[in-house]
Amino acid sequence: MMPLPSEVPALIVGAGPIGLACAISARRRGLEALVIDSGPIANAISQYPIGMTFFTTPERLEIGDHPLTCSGQKASREEALAYYRGVARAEQLAIAPYCRFVGAERTPDGFACVVATRLGEVTIRTPRLVLATGYLDHPNLLDVPGEDLPHVRHRFDEPHMTTGQEVVIVGAKNSAVEAALLAYRAGATVTLVHRGSALKETVKYWLRPDFLNRVAAGEITAHFDTTVQAISMTGVTVQHADGTTSDLPADRVYLLIGYHPDFAMLESLGVALDPVTRRATINPETLETNVPGLHLAGSVASGTKISEVFIENGRFDGEKIFGDHASQRDADARYAAKPRPTGE
Ligand SMILES: Cc1cc2nc3c(=O)[nH]c(=O)nc-3n(C[C@H](O)[C@H](O)[C@H](O)COP(=O)(O)OP(=O)(O)OC[C@H]3O[C@@H](n4cnc5c(N)ncnc54)[C@H](O)[C@@H]3O)c2cc1C
Repeated sequence: MMPLPSEVPALIVGAGPIGLACAISARRRGLEALVIDSGPIANAISQYPIGMTFFTTPERLEIGDHPLTCSGQKASREEALAYYRGVARAEQLAIAPYCRFVGAERTPDGFACVVATRLGEVTIRTPRLVLATGYLDHPNLLDVPGEDLPHVRHRFDEPHMTTGQEVVIVGAKNSAVEAALLAYRAGATVTLVHRGSALKETVKYWLRPDFLNRVAAGEITAHFDTTVQAISMTGVTVQHADGTTSDLPADRVYLLIGYHPDFAMLESLGVALDPVTRRATINPETLETNVPGLHLAGSVASGTKISEVFIENGRFDGEKIFGDHASQRDADARYAAKPRPTGE
């Protein structure tokens, strides 16, 4: 393990695509930021389903203007991991993996940050703290009995694991629909359950017809307007719109109903969150929060609407935090990236 410095000019928490991009922006302006992550580089992407392909085209996943080449039209999980590892090496970023940010206290000139390492806790002082912690560590919960049973997962792991299994998937966005198709093609008996009356509008145009055709053909079962009441070792009890209940057999249950940023951590640092959207009010030019010197980058700033900030439109956040604002506007225009929400 690399020895951690006791003081750094900027501490970036999270070595996801956006945290790495922030470190590049800082380094290109002569500021040697330290990036820490509770897991490996690009920890969130490493937890995507094995073999998954990104929806986004490769050039929109790029950071620091390093080209991402891939064998197909879209990058796979594995190609993206290799890419972000390679960029970190090429840019000689200072990264401390497996170091978890626990919290920070204000000091007269910045922050005293507590970081948990394999060997114990250390304190790192910094005038500038950037949280790029994403949301994947915090799945939304159904809050039903049995949610913590060992065969219940909040992420889809790998289609192969579902072969020959009765699989119940809860959700109706891209992750749930894609998981249903992958599991079905791996030889699982798949049932999808959703409390709403249809798939979400945002389901990708190539997934939607594939899924609906499988349902029409009786190859995948879908229960809409249906809520989960409880999960047992053998099944999932659901309630339908007419009030009747049924028990769906399940060897494996995937609750793919989204994630949320670590709101408790943000509040513990004094960041003001909107009571409804849970978004922090941040300066759109600098991404600084109401806490001076504390910036939010990437998905952690998205509040409950995590689909609004992703790699494509978060990857220039480092330019806002460490750069001049004109360059950010140029970058946005060049890539026609969607503007990111500011919490206002
Ligand atoms: C299955 C799936 C498919 C997706 N496909 C796409 C796609 O095609 N295109 C796209 O643009 N987006 C996609 N996304 C969303 C994308 O993954 C996120 O928008 C992106 O990862 C956000 O980057 P980030 O750097 O803000 O956060 P993350 O990539 O989540 O990185 C946050 C990092 O912070 C670390 N961290 C968290 N808490 C702490 C702590 N307390 N201390 C230290 N480290 C911490 C985590 O370990 C993690 O490495 C997908 C998401 C999923 C789940």
